[in-house]
Amino acid sequence: MALDNGAALAKPQTAKELKAWAEARGVRFFMISFTDLLGYQRAKLVPREAIEGMCHDGAGFAGFATWLDVTPAHPDMLALPDPTTVIQLPWNKEVAWLASNCVMENKDLNHAPRNVLRKLVAEAAELGLRVKTGVEPEFFLLNPDGTGVADGFDDSTKPCYDQNAILRRFDLIKEISDCMLEEGWEPYQNDHEDANGQFEMNWKYDDVLATADKHAFFKFMTRVLAEKYGLRATFMPKPLQGKTGNGCHAHISVWSLDGTKNAFSDDSKELGLSDQGRAFLGGIMKHASALALICCPTVNSYKRINAPRTSSGATWAPNSVTWTGNNRTHMVRVPGPGRFELRLPDGATNPYLMQAVILAAGLDGIRTNADPGPRSDVNFYTEGHLITGAPKLPLNLLDAIRAFDEATELKEALGMEFSNAYIRMKTAEWNDYASHFTAWEMKNTLDI
Ligand code: ADP
Ligand code: MG
Ligand code: MG
Ligand code: MG
Ligand code: MG
Repeated sequence: MALDNGAALAKPQTAKELKAWAEARGVRFFMISFTDLLGYQRAKLVPREAIEGMCHDGAGFAGFATWLDVTPAHPDMLALPDPTTVIQLPWNKEVAWLASNCVMENKDLNHAPRNVLRKLVAEAAELGLRVKTGVEPEFFLLNPDGTGVADGFDDSTKPCYDQNAILRRFDLIKEISDCMLEEGWEPYQNDHEDANGQFEMNWKYDDVLATADKHAFFKFMTRVLAEKYGLRATFMPKPLQGKTGNGCHAHISVWSLDGTKNAFSDDSKELGLSDQGRAFLGGIMKHASALALICCPTVNSYKRINAPRTSSGATWAPNSVTWTGNNRTHMVRVPGPGRFELRLPDGATNPYLMQAVILAAGLDGIRTNADPGPRSDVNFYTEGHLITGAPKLPLNLLDAIRAFDEATELKEALGMEFSNAYIRMKTAEWNDYASHFTAWEMKNTLDI
């Protein structure tokens, strides 16, 4: 896939170039990394001398030991690195990270997240489309055991954009931002978010697969560097009761294959969104409840959407399937011409699967010329009840599993091997959760 900026173009393309790249920069080890179904990143640390062989044969993993849908009896899962994704760790220059593709017996492991996304990117290309997205992964900086905000001074009622609080985290933010600069991601702003201890760092949108790789690396980098400062960085959807949760909004546009023309942009149309953009949005609206399983994939996710008002005054998260112009109270916002923002995803979403499900729903929308319906411009938090007929988002993980299971076209677009595996894994997670006894049950049932 063609990449846009100079820094990315300088990346090695082949195994041989990768080795030479490492020698020139003093990189001694590679982390051959992949992301499993639940979003955990797994890696083998490989000395530079062995990298050419690994690029050819792949690094071997026992897939069952990770969150992939394989048994202990399956053959080895091999992770084949993509040299163009390499990043020299700025905090440890002897090591470089590589995203990789999962292969088993010489075939792509169809349900592995990066493969699911790659397949949809290829389908979009067959339609002459190149999807570009940006993500906004919010995170908290907590104390090491994750029980509270690490910064004791960060306790105001409306903490968003608090300039003292963000400056107290300057050293960490500078390190992360400098890495993004060095890698050519074009970072452009950092802020304190709407909950105490919550932050967001933004960089420029890119091709959907490149954004997914960056998103995965960003989570890894943020956790590691926070640890260096004695902090626990978390992307958990709702780590603190009553506080605003961690969203991971996605901004989406679709371009011509050569990347020069934004096919979503048409000044003559409503909010500057072209007919094709509107149909893509129609697919997102049609499949929204099913999308929730991947965009909001944990038990805890449903404490963020459907939440009561937070201590800052708003949740900033949707609970219904509605869209609007530049208004942050709906599930989809069109902030300006030529793109839209999906506000559904949370920090637990898998960087690859989130992009894949957006593509799957959007391409279905384009193929079926789906209609997103009329937009709504009300303040949803105060007047949402006035909108009749807007479907409610799932109320919990089980609701979301069921909605996803009913979305046949979406499941097929993602691939049935993936969809079945994901439903099985998420159902097991729900059952495990449901088997836990809680203090709430005792308090409310003991004397019944
Ligand atoms: P906000 O907080 O207002 O929703 P941010 O500035 O935090 O917005 O994030 C906006 C994201 O959208 C960034 O990643 C940005 O690069 C991305 N973006 C901007 N224009 C486009 C576009 N045309 N297509 C896809 N993403 C875009
Ligand atoms: Mg062993
Ligand atoms: Mg933002
Ligand atoms: Mg934000
Ligand atoms: Mg946003």
